[in-house]
Amino acid sequence: MLGYNPLRVMSLRIVFLGTSAAVSSKNRDNTSLLIDDVLIDCPGNVFGKMIKAGYNPLKLRTIIITHRHVDHAYGLPSLLEMLRLSNKKERIKLFINEDFFLEMRQLLSTYGLIREDFPLDLIPLQENHVLFEDSLRIETFPVKHSVPNFGLKFSTSSVCIVYTSDTEPCEEVVERAKGVDLLVHEATCAEIVTGKKEGHSCVEDAARIAKQAGVKNLCLVHLGPQLEEHLCELTRKAEEIFSGRVIVPEDLDRAIV
Ligand SMILES: [Zn+2]
Ligand SMILES: [Zn+2]
Repeated sequence: MLGYNPLRVMSLRIVFLGTSAAVSSKNRDNTSLLIDDVLIDCPGNVFGKMIKAGYNPLKLRTIIITHRHVDHAYGLPSLLEMLRLSNKKERIKLFINEDFFLEMRQLLSTYGLIREDFPLDLIPLQENHVLFEDSLRIETFPVKHSVPNFGLKFSTSSVCIVYTSDTEPCEEVVERAKGVDLLVHEATCAEIVTGKKEGHSCVEDAARIAKQAGVKNLCLVHLGPQLEEHLCELTRKAEEIFSGRVIVPEDLDRAIV
C-alpha cells in the first residue's frame, strides 16, 4: 500500500462520467464518477468515456462498486476486459459491496477475468471501511436504499467530497457531509415534477440535506429522465432551499475541488 500523507495539500479532480438514474436519456448515461484515479460505479462504456474526458484508463488504480443495482455495476466485466486487453500491468483494487461480492466474483470468473496475468485485488466493501490512495482517504457509510448501499467520503488534508450513491434523504449523509466542499447527492425525482420515489431522493431533499449539513457546493446526479426538461426550474427550486452553489453537471463535465 502506498503511504498516506495527510500533510500533503491536494485538490481533487472529479469527472462526471454519467449523470442519469437507472433509465438513461439522449444526453445522459447512468451515473458514475471518477475522483482522481478512483472510479465509482461502472455502467456502460466507462473505458470509452474516460478517454473522451481526456483521462487515460490505464491510470485507474481503484474501482468501487457501491451496490448491486444494474445501473451501477453492469459495465464492470467489460471495463476489466478492456483494461486487460490494453495490457494494464499495475494492480487494480476492486472494492465491491459485500452484499453481492460473491455473485460479482462469480460473474467475473465466468468471463475469465480472474486470472494470474491480470493483477486484480477483489475486496468486499463494508460499512465504515477506510481505504487510502496516496494522500486521499476514502471512507464508506451506510445510506438508505432498497438494497444495502454505501455513501463515500473522500478527504485530503485540504478538501472533502461526499457522494451519496442511491439513497433516500438520510441523517447519516448530513453527519458525514458536515461542512464539506462538495456534496454529490442523488436526485432521481422532484417533488414538483414526479413526486417522491421510494429508496431515492428528490431535488428538494438533496437541497435540504445540503442546507442541514452546511456544505459549500451541491452537485445533483442520478437524474431521472422526467427531470431533464425542468432542470432550470429545479435548480432554482434547490437554490431557494440551499444558499450555496447548486450544480447540475452534464456527462463528462469536470471540476477541481
Ligand atoms: Zn441507481
Ligand atoms: Zn440503486
